[in-house]
Order: sequence, then structure tokens, then C-alpha cells
Amino acid sequence: MDILALRPVPAAAVLMAITRRCPLRCRHCSTDSLPTGPEHPGEVFLRFAGTFTPHDRPDLVMLTGGEPLLRPRLVRALAETAARNGSRTMILSGMFFAPRIPPAIEEAIEAADHFSASLDAFHEEEVPRENVFAVMRTLLARGKDLSFHITGTGPDDPYLRDVTAAVRREFGDRVPMLVSRVQPVGRALAMTPATPTAAPPGAETRALPCAMAAWPVVGFDGTITACCNQDVIDHRPIPAHLRLGHAGHDGWDVIRERCLGSGALRAIRTYGPLRLAGATGRGAGKGYCETCRELDAPSLPPSPVSVFLERQVRDMQLAGGGTGFARRYGCPPYSELVSLGHPRRNDGL
Ligand code: SF4
Repeated sequence: MDILALRPVPAAAVLMAITRRCPLRCRHCSTDSLPTGPEHPGEVFLRFAGTFTPHDRPDLVMLTGGEPLLRPRLVRALAETAARNGSRTMILSGMFFAPRIPPAIEEAIEAADHFSASLDAFHEEEVPRENVFAVMRTLLARGKDLSFHITGTGPDDPYLRDVTAAVRREFGDRVPMLVSRVQPVGRALAMTPATPTAAPPGAETRALPCAMAAWPVVGFDGTITACCNQDVIDHRPIPAHLRLGHAGHDGWDVIRERCLGSGALRAIRTYGPLRLAGATGRGAGKGYCETCRELDAPSLPPSPVSVFLERQVRDMQLAGGGTGFARRYGCPPYSELVSLGHPRRNDGL
């Protein structure tokens, strides 16, 4: 709940996809990761984390992949480097190692502040649920801060009812869950083909802010983008307004400044891409992110009004907290489950 509450805050966190490799072959994998996927030298990521300072650093570093725990020593080094300057670290894993926790992975998890396990019908074809639970039981008994990332096909998916009830039973409502829907990206495209729909009439006048344009994302090759949309990360060239730099030569101070200072990103965070497309005379394209990627937005300098409006929109989203974010971007009937185990949890669950 605390992590999601930070989601609309620009530069509050950075995501690092430290490898595209994964030993699992989940059918819904959004990053299309494979055991033989590309992997770049760890120095690129360490160099970038080494530019954090106690006065200028993200609050949170989220390590993802592929499977980040294929590089446990790099995970540990990144977590320790981040911690030296006051950043906290979380790991998102597909749990390929379950039910055992090999020593190097144990040390990596120990170095991080939060550990999250992916769990869904597709992962369960690769790693049995009981094995995942066994690892989480061990970590919980050691006092680790934990969560589950769960995906399903939608609010009516019976799997979601079953697995969320099982997690609640197994862990006595002490472990939160972020439940979301499978998106038509990566290998999931083969199951749920993307059907780009035309933006509805008048979409250009509607404000629909994008909270995803807040946390910079370091991709597998060190390229840093303004959001985690997989098409933005994968396709070249990256639209100029969504490219922030490269971990091999830019520091956190530069990336944070570009994230905060870009007029296009501020407008996307304040009004969203549809309205921005209308304002630039292009009109909305096939859909929300598609329109954003096709924007040719001028980089306007900040004005007092644009900065004020961005703060207003951010504060409205902050008022919704972590559950508000989960309701908007996750699977709404399950959004309150992000509060499980939190001191301010929703006791009506
Ligand atoms: S609207 Fe733009 S910034 Fe937001 S997620 Fe989509 S592509 Fe990224």
C-alpha cells in the first residue's frame, strides 16, 4: 500500500529490469523473457545506482526482469548501494527457485527491504503454488516484508477468487496482494490479441492523467524511459518525449531533472496523452498509449500554472492512496487487498 501510494509521485522511485532472461516460460509473460534472453553487464546498473546521494536519490528501487534473481549478486550489490544513500529496494520474482532458497538468493532477498512473488495461473504451470507458499512462509517467519503480484483475466476470473482466498488463509491476512489483469503485451499477445480501438469522439478534450509517466525505468540494455509500457521499452527509436537517457552515462540527478522538468511528461501526468494530442492538433490516435507514443509534443518550459496543476492532480491521486491506485490500474474488485497486513488496513475486508 505504501509503495503504490508513491506511484503518482514523479521520480519517487526507479524500476530496473536487470535482465531479460528467465528460466520459466509463462505463457502470459509481458516481457517475452526466455532463458536465452539478452543480458547486459551489471556494471551499467551499478554505475547508475552509484550516482544516488543521500540528498538526491529515489525513495524506492524496484528490481525486475526477466527474473532478477538469476543475478542474485547483482541484486544484493544494488540493494546495498541503494541502502547506503537511503533508498529502499524491492524485488519482484517469478520464484523459479522455489521451494528451496539457494544461499546466494537468500542473501539477495535479505539485502532488499521488500520481496514480492508473482503468482497466477500461468506461473502455476511452471512453479506449483505450494512451492511458492513454502518460500513465502519461510520469509514471513523471518520477518520479511512481503507481497504477491497476482494476475488474472479480469474481475470474473474464478482463478482470482480461488488464489486470493488461498493467500488470505495461508498467511492469515498478513501479506498484501496487488491483483491486476493480463495485458496484451509480450507473449500474452498470443492469448489476448491487442485490439486497438479508436479513441471515442471528444477524447481530445478529456483529462485522463497517466500516473505511469512518473517513475523512470531502466531497461535491460540500460536505456532509461519515462514509463514501463513494454512497447515503449522494446521499440526503437523511443519517442523523444519518453526517452530520459542511459544508465551507462547519465546519473540519477540528470534523470530526475528530465523526468520532473519535461513539459511533455508534465502534461501527460496532468491531462494525459489524449488531451495533449488534441492540444497539439494531431488528434487522438488508436488508443491511450498508442496516442502517447505517436505524440510529437514540444518541450515547453514549466509555467507556474502548469506546475500548480500537476501538483493538484498528483495530490488528488495521493489522496486515493495505494488502494486508489490499485482500483484504477489493477482489478477493481480486489483493490483493497493491497492493504492486508498494513497498520492502516481496511478492516472491513
Ligand atoms: S500514456 Fe504514455 S507515458 Fe503513460 S504509460 Fe502510456 S505510453 Fe507510457
